[in-house]
Amino acid sequence: MREKAYRNLSEKLRGSVITPGSGEYEVARSVYNAMIDRRPEAIVRCADEADVVTAVNFARNEDIAVAVRGGGHNGAGFGVCDGGVVIDLSSLRGVLVNPATNTIRAEAGCTQADLSHAAHDFGLAVPLGVISTTGIAGLTLGGGMGYLSRKYGLTVDNLLAANLVLADGHFVTASAAENPDLFWGIRGGGGNFGIVTSFLFRGSRVAQVFAGPMLWEMEHARELLEWYREVTPAQPEELCGLFTFLKVPPGPPFPEELHGKTMCGIVWAYCGSADLVEEAFRPVRKFRAPKFELMGSMPYPTLQCMFDAIYPPGLQWYWRGDFFSEIPDAAIDEHLSYAEQLPTLHSTMQFNPVDGAASRVNRHETAFSYRDAKWSMVIVGVDPDPANAEKIMAWTKDYWTALHPYSLGGAYINFMADEGIDRVKASYRDNYDRLCEIKRKYDPNNFFRINQNIKPSMEITM
Ligand SMILES: Cc1cc2nc3c(=O)[nH]c(=O)nc-3n(C[C@H](O)[C@H](O)[C@H](O)COP(=O)(O)OP(=O)(O)OC[C@H]3O[C@@H](n4cnc5c(N)ncnc54)[C@H](O)[C@@H]3O)c2cc1C
Repeated sequence: MREKAYRNLSEKLRGSVITPGSGEYEVARSVYNAMIDRRPEAIVRCADEADVVTAVNFARNEDIAVAVRGGGHNGAGFGVCDGGVVIDLSSLRGVLVNPATNTIRAEAGCTQADLSHAAHDFGLAVPLGVISTTGIAGLTLGGGMGYLSRKYGLTVDNLLAANLVLADGHFVTASAAENPDLFWGIRGGGGNFGIVTSFLFRGSRVAQVFAGPMLWEMEHARELLEWYREVTPAQPEELCGLFTFLKVPPGPPFPEELHGKTMCGIVWAYCGSADLVEEAFRPVRKFRAPKFELMGSMPYPTLQCMFDAIYPPGLQWYWRGDFFSEIPDAAIDEHLSYAEQLPTLHSTMQFNPVDGAASRVNRHETAFSYRDAKWSMVIVGVDPDPANAEKIMAWTKDYWTALHPYSLGGAYINFMADEGIDRVKASYRDNYDRLCEIKRKYDPNNFFRINQNIKPSMEITM
């Protein structure tokens, strides 16, 4: 251990250096996914951009591996490492809204809740994901999808600029006007090119949404999936429906007779005009009445935290995903079979719509490649008990293996486990070569490698 080096580093920071001897260490090294149990040499908790530059220069000079942490939600646990240094931005949570330009600058340690809360006061929103405690940094750099994506695109489609610290310690801006190649790469290419200190987003005029879940009995699951694949892509882009298989949580607001029951459902979010809600839901209402629903008008930030309590930090998670443009009958057969085997109360499968505005962007316009997909599927095995880790992993892998032949071939990098280079390549398809070029330019030594890694050259395998 380089104790003296860490003491010296500490003196140069406004933030702190947390080492195994510190009382904060156990909490500081933990990430959202409790299946990840890694022990870094130190966690550098940055207080400002200058600290990020200092931490990068320190790690490069010491030749030590670096993990970068925002919200700590990464499924594969890339926000922490064994033996290296974690550059932790979770204290950088400022948000500045400019109502004159409808833009929002958010520091890279913000959670979705931080950003949405600040933007909402100005009647603005950015398309983000479905759990409010997720960090905006990892989410944005991978693409970012959620309730507003059919109408307003992916999170990266609303990114105007980002400030980054590069591997050589330089501080740069990436935007359409400055370092456009880097700007292209960070819109889907993950944390491969540098550490983002802040993002500048375009805000859209979304305040209230009409939203919530509808659940049906499993005996209607085939009919629901057939209806979902045909009808939902043709619905107005203001209406987004996340299809899901789940076990009903054992508590209010769910009626007791449904507790623990395997069901299928759609979580709806309508972000258009309140006058048109009824019309937007007319086709939904024509379909079979749900067994349970909890629909209503609510502020967008409220929708974002609707499921937070079901998924607190500290559960075991295992992830697999893929993109789909069709859900053929044979795929539905597999879904029904694996849904019936949902291994635990928290495990689930979800289809996240990425059609509409997200699909109108050319697949070569950003690093995010799957603009031809209609859905990004995620299968997650989740449970509080580490004893069930094998069980949830096996179910997730088997389910994914059964569905993969019907997919477009690759997954959203944020819905993947640590699955190796071929799966990373499959995420980017013909954008991968350009990503390698950009990696060679901005990070030729693969300093930022604890991520869904893009290799600067064939020789570098670590
Ligand atoms: C419960 C849950 C729900 C989710 N729902 C959605 C969803 O609806 N939509 C969606 O799109 N995704 C969703 N995700 C996936 C989410 O986008 C990823 O887990 C993402 O990596 C989380 O980002 P983070 O900052 O919290 O993660 P962290 O673990 O902190 O970071 C993940 C990785 O991102 C990179 N990174 C983080 N910060 C920086 C930075 N400042 N600069 C450069 N690189 C950085 C690093 O490579 C790091 O290893 C969900 C995840 C969870 C756990």
